[in-house]
Amino acid sequence: MARVELRNVSLNYHTLAGEVKALEQINLSIQDQEFVAIVGQSGCGKSTLLSLISGLLRPTRGSVFIDREEVQGPNKRVGYMLQNDYLFEWRTILDNALLGLEIRREKTAEAVEEVKAMLKAYGLGGFEHHYPGQLSGGMRQRVALIRTLATKPDVLLLDEPFSALDYQNRLSVGEEVVKILRERKKTVIMVTHDIPEAVSMANRVVVMTPRPGRIRSIHRIKMCDEGLTPLQTREVPQFREYFTTIWKELNRDD
Ligand code: ADP
Ligand code: MG
Repeated sequence: MARVELRNVSLNYHTLAGEVKALEQINLSIQDQEFVAIVGQSGCGKSTLLSLISGLLRPTRGSVFIDREEVQGPNKRVGYMLQNDYLFEWRTILDNALLGLEIRREKTAEAVEEVKAMLKAYGLGGFEHHYPGQLSGGMRQRVALIRTLATKPDVLLLDEPFSALDYQNRLSVGEEVVKILRERKKTVIMVTHDIPEAVSMANRVVVMTPRPGRIRSIHRIKMCDEGLTPLQTREVPQFREYFTTIWKELNRDD
């Protein structure tokens, strides 16, 4: 069953200077528990696409469906994690992780216990009462992920989630994040401009054209389907072939 479906989706922004065509005729169907990475040049509409799925924006034409229901506005089934981790420096780690639940008025004693258990399971036990400034970049990213998972979304939207991390950290945090999302059986749509990151993490990589963003091609990544982790995937010989193919697609002029 398709968890997420985009049917003939176009989006135009209206500005003082006129209309900006951001996305044109997007058709995409994403299965339950699938990890889809979206790659494309800056300004091709990747963040716009996530905003449409989250319901923060409505399409100019076409429709977005989650579990066959048309998305009419922000909804509980979707969790959105932005580029910057947006942790509040004056709140403790636990209070940051509880923020989403607090905003939804769902901060029950049971929910608090669940979040504490997640912090512990994901290497943040003992840090509940620390502040974000005392944590490494990778740990902060995990707190942001736990905050997003706390409200129990089925679908996670990740917008360049590792761009603030250095190369070494990106590899290890990517490994952890994939492990967590597989364990929790989430459906994931991740935007990135890092091709190796996309190939190492996703079941399918969607390549977009420059603005107005259309889908240029979709690549199925065999290693993820076979259950390899991102680090294992980077080790197989086909990894480079996928990289080269997708790089050429991304840089093709037409
Ligand atoms: P990406 O995430 O791929 O870099 P975006 O989805 O942020 O691209 O933006 C796609 C295009 O739409 C860009 O050309 C951007 O300048 C334009 N755009 C984004 N947001 C707005 C807005 N609120 N008003 C007008 N134009 C916008
Ligand atoms: Mg963006």
